[in-house]
Amino acid sequence: MIKLSADFIYPVSGPPVKEGVVIVDDSGKILKLDVKSNYNEDEIQVHKGIIVPGFVNTHCHLELSHMKGKVNTGTGLISFITNVVSQRKATESEIQSAIALAEKEMFEQGIVAVGDISNVTDTFNQKAQNNLRYFTFVEFFDFMQNDAALAEFNKYKAVFDQLSLPLGHNKSCVPHAPYSVSTKLFNLLNQVNPELKTTISIHNQETPPENQLFLDKTGGFIDFYNGFGLDLNDFEPDNKPSVHYALKYMNPFHRTLFVHNTLTTDSDIKVAQAWSKDVYWATCPNANLYIENNLPDYQSFINNDAQMTIGTDSLTSNWQLSVLEEMKTIKKYQSFVPFQTLLQWATLNGAKALGFDNELGSIEKGKTCGLNLLYDLNINNEMGPDTKVKRLI
Ligand SMILES: [Zn+2]
Repeated sequence: MIKLSADFIYPVSGPPVKEGVVIVDDSGKILKLDVKSNYNEDEIQVHKGIIVPGFVNTHCHLELSHMKGKVNTGTGLISFITNVVSQRKATESEIQSAIALAEKEMFEQGIVAVGDISNVTDTFNQKAQNNLRYFTFVEFFDFMQNDAALAEFNKYKAVFDQLSLPLGHNKSCVPHAPYSVSTKLFNLLNQVNPELKTTISIHNQETPPENQLFLDKTGGFIDFYNGFGLDLNDFEPDNKPSVHYALKYMNPFHRTLFVHNTLTTDSDIKVAQAWSKDVYWATCPNANLYIENNLPDYQSFINNDAQMTIGTDSLTSNWQLSVLEEMKTIKKYQSFVPFQTLLQWATLNGAKALGFDNELGSIEKGKTCGLNLLYDLNINNEMGPDTKVKRLI
């Protein structure tokens, strides 16, 4: 048993506790949240800073870790995807050592669980070590070619079938993005996933050409597809932003995790949240700056009580894998977002989105949420530009 104390403890499920003590057993399970004055100083480990639950990273592509620094910043999503497709190849040992290193970085940055996209099986050995808890989203796409849907489905379904899950992990079959999944493939995915309560992630509204494609079948994706020798003859735009297309073919009884949402408007948020109560919005601000040099309008999400979560995206589109660095970026560019709101996005909301909130996301008796110390705080005893994280449990 160990008793940990700091200037404040933020359980996230309740208000911060000044000079709190959190007592954990040897397996890391929370036994009690109390105050320091009830204990002798010599039985407590006292830290300068604040103690928060372990972070949940709801969007990563661990398998792309070997491409760190290979793709230029600020070129826009279409150029980014073209680069990823053409530069993805590497030796098996390069791929595996980059994956191991990236996971170690996440561990050291206080991340306890990850929603991770897989197109291939490269990360499966690392995930089997159970250093972090993974919800693996095996991602399907057919570039909107209905006639290729079944073959592409079978290809990615074989990847899905090869992933065996350590206790507490989960997996599902997910669509890549509205602009890359045909109606036929959406329907095949609905048939293979359970009918209720799994989590389905989808990239959403990350670049202006995505909405243009669905509004009037114009914009950069037309040339992008033509460049790969594909036509969009089967595709008829329904003159609404891309999220409407996704909603039409996805299952509202699942937890749906929309990822990026850089161009999602107030009315898009309202439409999605009317469609299902289990809608989550993952924001990956550093990746948005890296790829598109743009950020979502967080005020619209806050106004609509949206359940926001935080993702790092991959090392191909980020400088590091750290939920804390994502929180700092939001605070830097849209500083009206309160620290406690960001902390909820980074912990409890992420745990809920992945269905891991029975054990993770908040400092509550019976949970094994992990504990992080945030130190080098700002003058208000909250996260500032110099704040760092140390994993305590
Ligand atoms: Zn992504």
